[in-house]
Amino acid sequence: MAYVIAAPCIDNSDQSCVEVCPVDCIASEPGIDRKFYIDPDGCIECGACEMACPNQAIARDDRLAGGWRHFAEVDALWFRDPVAARGLVDRLADAA
Ligand code: SF4
Repeated sequence: MAYVIAAPCIDNSDQSCVEVCPVDCIASEPGIDRKFYIDPDGCIECGACEMACPNQAIARDDRLAGGWRHFAEVDALWFRDPVAARGLVDRLADAA
């Protein structure tokens, strides 16, 4: 399990989560990405990012609201294939 960054981060990209993550597993490419991404292989599930996010965009993957479940796949995908992940973010943003 891991924490996931969902829809409210899109085009918002507050960086509070990055500042509090003790293992530096939250990433994004400035000027290109529309949100931040959590590496599920690095996340130690401390919950600090969820508490820090001013947009309530972060939840543990087993607590994601129905419409946010796809973001677990998006976050994991970004660390393997960022271009594909960005395409998914665009589609999910359009559908919101
Ligand atoms: Fe980082 Fe903790 Fe959030 Fe995981 S739960 S992304 S380790 S701050």
